[in-house]
Amino acid sequence: MKRRKNPLLAALFPNRCVYCDTRVQGDELVCDVCRNNLPRIEGEICPKCGRGKKACACRKKENYFDGIAAPFYFEGNVRKGVHSFKFRNYTAGAQEYAREMALTVKERFPGIAFDFITEVPVSAKSRRARGYNQSELLAGRIAEITGVQHKRGVIKKIYETNAQHGLPGYLRRGNLAGVYDLPEPDAVKEKTVLLCDDISTSGETLNECAKMLWLYGARSVYCVTLALTKAEKRVKK
Ligand SMILES: [Zn+2]
Ligand SMILES: [Zn+2]
Repeated sequence: MKRRKNPLLAALFPNRCVYCDTRVQGDELVCDVCRNNLPRIEGEICPKCGRGKKACACRKKENYFDGIAAPFYFEGNVRKGVHSFKFRNYTAGAQEYAREMALTVKERFPGIAFDFITEVPVSAKSRRARGYNQSELLAGRIAEITGVQHKRGVIKKIYETNAQHGLPGYLRRGNLAGVYDLPEPDAVKEKTVLLCDDISTSGETLNECAKMLWLYGARSVYCVTLALTKAEKRVKK
């Protein structure tokens, strides 16, 4: 999925690695160091939380989604790349990240015919502030790569919530109840949905969105994210 650059433009504006931001040759989007050091989720993978067996802490927790797939853990150069995504050429970032995500979907959910892909929404206010929704960009690119239709805005975020990270799990769940809505509920009836987000920490955001899809009659919901945080250490009180 490389795009040929005009050689003159390439000389004036060399590509930068979408993870560490160092210069790369020609049409490359990833430097050699990063390519060999990506924190891939590999080996035996927990079907419920998408993490390697050792990093799993879902403890048989039930989700409203049927599966989750991510190519990476949210650490190292992936963390760095995502954090600087919005400050750099995010088109190149979205292209490369979506390619990884699309491959992972193919590998982990073989044979599943998705009716459409949609994104975890941000509130209208956040979208205006940033100018775009990162998850929507990724969903659009994954749609281009896989040929699955991208339906934008299937889920709406009705109001702003406190940032999820930093809150303990039980507060995250309370924090999200009633935050999402479906403007056209019929659009999801009997559908197999691929739900896209950039990063998932506790999975509560995806779970809440999947719950809405499920409530309105979606047949199944699968999730894809670029990265998952490793399970949080549970602190005994
Ligand atoms: Zn790099
Ligand atoms: Zn698990």
